[in-house]
Amino acid sequence: MKLIDQNITLGSVVTLKKGHPCGANKWAIVRFGVDCKIMCMACNRVVLIDRVALKKAIKKVLEETYEIPTEENH
Ligand SMILES: [Zn+2]
Repeated sequence: MKLIDQNITLGSVVTLKKGHPCGANKWAIVRFGVDCKIMCMACNRVVLIDRVALKKAIKKVLEETYEIPTEENH
């Protein structure tokens, strides 16, 4: 697993300071790079966010992990 920082890895499930408009606030990190992709675990919508903004937006890193489908894992 690619380490993003000491708490977050690819597939980590996090809550953000601001939830998704669908009402949920549980996101899986499905891509990590200069730009990251996070997926709302309620509606599966993927949002592009830059790494710095993502780190700032994270409220809590949850214990669970999300298994990323192969087609999204690159
Ligand atoms: Zn959503």
